[in-house]
Amino acid sequence: MTVAYRWTCKFCGTANAPASSCAKCNFPVEATAVEFEMANASGSTAVVYEKRESDRRAKEEWRALPIWKKVVFGISMGLVFIVVGIIKYSWLILSMFFGWGVALAGVAAIWIASVAFSARK
Ligand SMILES: [Zn+2]
Repeated sequence: MTVAYRWTCKFCGTANAPASSCAKCNFPVEATAVEFEMANASGSTAVVYEKRESDRRAKEEWRALPIWKKVVFGISMGLVFIVVGIIKYSWLILSMFFGWGVALAGVAAIWIASVAFSARK
């Protein structure tokens, strides 16, 4: 993407003529906040282009897949979500039982303690 106005590079602050990327550091004019963070973290704008290239390749590979593979992928992703959902839900049930268990153990401990205390009299 090329802009039709003068702009200041978000990465190095250089004032640029209308272009698609910075004349000094090559940072793209339409970079996202994520791309800015990536470039900032690595100190280089090259990662932005590497990321875009790998994204583009991933998209191309996805498009090249036969439809049945996409369907299988979709189903397996659905299954993952269902399994994760079940795990989350069962964890909720488990923690509920755990909570009741702790409460019961507490009541039992108080009961045993009171019995033991009264037996001593
Ligand atoms: Zn720049």
